[in-house]
Amino acid sequence: MIHDQKRILVTGGAGFLGSHLCDRLIEEGHDLICLDNFFTGTKRNILHLTGIPNFELLRHDLVHPIFLEVDEIYNLACPASPIHYQYNPVKTVKTNVMGTINMLGVAKRVKAKILQASTSEVYGNPTVHPQDETYWGNVNTIGPRSCYDEGKRCAETLFFDYHRQNKVNIRVVRIFNTYGPRMHPNDGRVVSNFVVQALTNRDITVYGDGSQTRSFCYVDDMIEGLIRMMNGPDDFTGPVNLGNPAESTILDLAEMIIRLTGSRSRIIFKPLPQDDPLQRRPDITLAKKKLEWAPVMEIEQGLMKTVEYFRGVLEKK
Ligand code: NAD
Ligand code: UDP
Repeated sequence: MIHDQKRILVTGGAGFLGSHLCDRLIEEGHDLICLDNFFTGTKRNILHLTGIPNFELLRHDLVHPIFLEVDEIYNLACPASPIHYQYNPVKTVKTNVMGTINMLGVAKRVKAKILQASTSEVYGNPTVHPQDETYWGNVNTIGPRSCYDEGKRCAETLFFDYHRQNKVNIRVVRIFNTYGPRMHPNDGRVVSNFVVQALTNRDITVYGDGSQTRSFCYVDDMIEGLIRMMNGPDDFTGPVNLGNPAESTILDLAEMIIRLTGSRSRIIFKPLPQDDPLQRRPDITLAKKKLEWAPVMEIEQGLMKTVEYFRGVLEKK
């Protein structure tokens, strides 16, 4: 047992980011509870951890209250890709609002520190570029993305109200587009879509004219940021942006993936989904200053690791 071993709860621990976070926390010797309802997560993502004495898996839906004794909570449970969070939008809101209240209730009762995985989507279709944490956002309250965007905004509100009202020790990070191994192959997110399409030589589906931008962060960099924020100064609640400021158009991303995979895929253009943000790039000055954090993985290197992962997934099929 390590000297500063903590009991840590990761909600959404069987998902893409959650499973990588579980890996890191187990590596550090902590006692871990991974909670998931397996809506978008899978047991495969954490199979290698089962059987380890300090790893515990709980099938539970966060919408329902739960009583646990922990020192820290990373609240990641929530489907993150548009097709998944729009599949049952009411449930997405419930997870973000009721689920978050349930976790803040645990934190309040047992005096645990709690970190919220918020999102760049709180900025909506931003009119300020790049986005820093002082920007309040430009979000449609009634569109198809609203269940996620407004759900996450309300979760942030709840975090700060529990902090002010009940002195809960909170941390809020706004995660920008993150990619890497264990992304769901069919979740419709752009990196997984393009890589799978390229590896199978199918058409690469660029939505709109591909001039919209995103800034892609490799998963290991993101996990490092989450852990630094949880262990950062107690007076630093955030919100803090975590993401890679290297911005790329979606068309450039498609061309890069074709080149890296040596694919025969053609690029085709499909309609841009409603409310799809035109541009997105984090200003990470605050994370650099307060957490001494900045991403280190170059996009081509990170994409190659992702390509290798999906090659393995497709070979098994
Ligand atoms: P993911 O869909 O792979 O993981 C989410 C996990 O939460 C899944 O394992 C899912 O089964 C679980 N879950 C969903 N609803 C639940 C519920 N009601 N009860 C219990 N478990 C539930 O997504 P991800 O990319 O790993 O995202 C993790 C978190 O980070 C999410 O909160 C997401 O909003 C946030 N985030 C991710 C990104 C990104 O680019 N990946 C960007 C911004 C924010
Ligand atoms: N996108 C695309 N083709 C795809 C999937 C997504 O052109 O097959 C676009 C999408 O319209 C958006 C960007 O890629 O402009 C990022 O989409 P994703 O769903 O990954 O993330 P988000 O829109 O939530 O940032």
